[in-house]
Amino acid sequence: MPALRTLYDSSVYDPAPVPSHWEATVPVDAADWRPLEADESCDVAVIGGGYTGLSAALHLARDHGIEVRVLEAGGHVGWGASGRNGGFCCLPATKMSIAAMTRRYGAEETKRFFASQVEGVAYTRALIEDNDIDAEICGDGVFEVAHRRQAFGELQEYGAALTRLFGIETSLYSKDEFRDIGHDSTEQFGALKVHAGFALHPLKFAHGMARAASAAGAVLHPSSPVTRWLKDGSHHLLHSERGMLRAKRVVVATNGYLRERLHRAFDARILPALSNIIVTRPLNAAELAAQSWTTDCPLTNTRRLLFYYRKLPDARILFGARGDLSGTPADGARMRDWMVRRFTEVFPAWREIPIDYFWRGLICFSRRLAPSLGRLADDPTVHYGFGYHANGVNTAPWAGGKIAEMVAGRTEPDDLPAVLRGLPARFPLPTLRRTYLAIAYRWYGLRDG
Ligand SMILES: Cc1cc2nc3c(=O)[nH]c(=O)nc-3n(C[C@H](O)[C@H](O)[C@H](O)COP(=O)(O)OP(=O)(O)OC[C@H]3O[C@@H](n4cnc5c(N)ncnc54)[C@H](O)[C@@H]3O)c2cc1C
Repeated sequence: MPALRTLYDSSVYDPAPVPSHWEATVPVDAADWRPLEADESCDVAVIGGGYTGLSAALHLARDHGIEVRVLEAGGHVGWGASGRNGGFCCLPATKMSIAAMTRRYGAEETKRFFASQVEGVAYTRALIEDNDIDAEICGDGVFEVAHRRQAFGELQEYGAALTRLFGIETSLYSKDEFRDIGHDSTEQFGALKVHAGFALHPLKFAHGMARAASAAGAVLHPSSPVTRWLKDGSHHLLHSERGMLRAKRVVVATNGYLRERLHRAFDARILPALSNIIVTRPLNAAELAAQSWTTDCPLTNTRRLLFYYRKLPDARILFGARGDLSGTPADGARMRDWMVRRFTEVFPAWREIPIDYFWRGLICFSRRLAPSLGRLADDPTVHYGFGYHANGVNTAPWAGGKIAEMVAGRTEPDDLPAVLRGLPARFPLPTLRRTYLAIAYRWYGLRDG
């Protein structure tokens, strides 16, 4: 059996918790969650304990009465992107423009995709509220900030299209107007507010969903990487380091952390990429005022290699950007320095503010430029959901719910919006994937100016 393969330095897959602000502010209550340490069996095995896998497990157990276990490679559930993202619950989970999506899938399917994205935002909020999760929701929309003068016109067109085509409420603010209600910066030339979205504490959300899944009867196994996947007749045998799980059906919910050569169907389908976050110490009122900062909403800018940032409930500033191409600790340290420099170029009044946290994680792109959901054509006992294009907080929990419905036979893959349906094409010459990313970064960097 060939060894499993990953695209980045082994440190990126280290199962220890990352040194994030989120890890520092959430008590890890792992009392009921033990590694798989024997040979067990269940109806459905979920590989991956992030939002996709946890939501699938919660809904399978609670809504469909199906016996389910989750195998998570990291040291705790929510160890992957779900426990380390920026906490922006927003839309859309695609790198396709509206025009490109319409050309490829038609106007009706594009509408269905955007409707599912709005539904995803409401779905995440409902999961939090219905399960009493203390996820520190804040903000009542998401701002997209023009990073240069010419980008303001693009924002205006984009906002008008969201409203006209999909009925999504938006508001446009000039540079001066946005200084009064948002912030000022060297890269602030007006902003668009999309009134569908909010911010949350991603790890508290993941742990809350895990507790709800446990309470509904799902069994969660952290520190249990699936290292080998065999079939015995109609059963799947998922081997981990200290145990084996025998299951009738499997849900693959590994997103950017997929280990290749685990199952051929998923090899070369994804392009994982690193995303980095820095967090400052808490700012006082005068420091916030120095950048005219007043908003609690999360913000992205119009760079193609975008910056994403927000004020946390304790007045720290979180600032995120793309990562490096190797994942080595040395490149990570260089990226941290670059991010601090860019952060203080964008917000010069905060030049002396100490940075308390830096961490990174894997997001997941694919050739279809949108998420992929469904079940394998040649083995209908295997379901999957991945490829959220750095926008999974609204999409992955919703996808997990849809997967649970498909496993339970309440939804067919054909019922999904066409934009999301089925596996993406494989990458040609997949060993060159990081080179493709390097070329894309260079190209987008030039276009961003
Ligand atoms: C730094 C960063 C910032 C981000 N910011 C945002 C944001 O603000 N808003 C937004 O919408 N999205 C954001 N994202 C993306 C978002 O976090 C993801 O789209 C979402 O969490 C995906 O959830 P998931 O459950 O599919 O994958 P993950 O949460 O990545 O979970 C997959 C899990 O599978 C496990 N796994 C993999 N292989 C195996 C195996 N063989 N056996 C067992 N387990 C395995 C991994 O350990 C991992 O925990 C960000 C991501 C990162 C990294």
